[in-house]
Amino acid sequence: MTNSPIDPTRRLFVGTLALGLGGIVAGRGAAAQEAIPATPVGRPEPELESPPPEPLASRLGWAVAGLGDFAQGYVIPKGLGGARRAKLTGLVSGNRDKALKVAARQGVPEGSIYDYAMTGLADDASIDIVYVVTPNSTHQELAIRALEAGKHVMCEKPMANSSRECQRMIDAAKAADRRLMVAYRAHFEPSNVRVKEMIDAGEIGPITFASSDHHRPLDLSLPRDQWRAKRTIAGGGSLVDIGIYSLNGLIWFLGETPSRVCATLHSPPDDPRFAEVEDLMTAQLVFPSGARANISSSYSSNTKRIDLFGAKAVAKLDPATSYSGNRLTVSTPEANEQVVTKEPSEVQFSNEIDHLCEAISTGSAIRTPGEMGLRDVHIIHALYRSAAEGRWIDLNENGSAKDG
Ligand code: NDP
Repeated sequence: MTNSPIDPTRRLFVGTLALGLGGIVAGRGAAAQEAIPATPVGRPEPELESPPPEPLASRLGWAVAGLGDFAQGYVIPKGLGGARRAKLTGLVSGNRDKALKVAARQGVPEGSIYDYAMTGLADDASIDIVYVVTPNSTHQELAIRALEAGKHVMCEKPMANSSRECQRMIDAAKAADRRLMVAYRAHFEPSNVRVKEMIDAGEIGPITFASSDHHRPLDLSLPRDQWRAKRTIAGGGSLVDIGIYSLNGLIWFLGETPSRVCATLHSPPDDPRFAEVEDLMTAQLVFPSGARANISSSYSSNTKRIDLFGAKAVAKLDPATSYSGNRLTVSTPEANEQVVTKEPSEVQFSNEIDHLCEAISTGSAIRTPGEMGLRDVHIIHALYRSAAEGRWIDLNENGSAKDG
């Protein structure tokens, strides 16, 4: 593929590698000119591929609220464990015994373990930010409690189960003069970030059609999936849980909010997993530019992909939103190019945490603010209404339905 017609893509690809190797080559070149003794001796500062972490004392302190599957499997070890500007300094949990064990493993002082009342949190100067990683129906209450205690908040997706709850969270952040971010990790995942850069640089060409499918099995033997089958807790089924990645990702990549949506739902009638929430959701989105998209989600298959059909090339993220190993392929009729990023997918967890730290420290904009979470919840509700009423729903620019 040395004569690839996808020149811009190739340039990006080669540029990425050159960045990484350039530093190493320069470092090696300089060292090669010196005589290196065979005896133990100090050597110059190595040229690292990414900057070293900040000193612990100057990092922002994070408390994780809800010590479940995602918090213990990813947020604490990969997110906070890999962050350069953050450190884990507190825990919020309804299970004190579990919290004590996590605190002992992570070096969190017992005095910074809170229950969901969060009594005393306001006076705990070691905690700057609370990361809400609990079931969806609890996000509003916990986020507002943390904001009222003077802490910034990162909230898991979906932001909440209703647009009214999302708006209350946004209002509480404004009233407390604190920052509020929704943990849309794909915005910090290298392959997703790369394709967005390529779209913005015109390398994919205008996108007239896109499709995205997010499916995963729901297993009621797992505690993490039991609340997902309860409508009052989860707020919905596969759409709110993983279909939200299709919706949020396509809006980000296309750079516009849909103006019309139409959806259908289907659940196998005798499957106890779907007594309260939907299994399959399919939807069509129409964008103001005229672009169209198809999205689907279910709890009965397993895939996480996004296809973007541009006039110059088709960009395929498959998988698009996995925890690791996401892959970007850019295709023309002449060639398929896999675009390799310098950093692995796993940095998405720490990059989003460092992003909020930076926004707090410098006052810079948050890429995935509360308003984005609210927009997505508006559209999710329009999709449910469309499916229930069997018709297209017209949307305002903020994602809310035109007819209320
Ligand atoms: P889990 O069921 O594994 O963990 C949820 C934890 O929340 C529990 O362990 C418990 O922690 C606490 N909790 C508080 N109230 C309740 C309640 N009423 N019912 C159950 N648990 C409760 O869920 P997940 O970790 O899978 O999901 C948590 C959140 O993270 C959800 O909003 C989900 O959408 C999101 N998520 C995001 C992912 C992403 O990739 N961004 C991936 C997976 C989940 P304790 O015992 O400490 O009180």
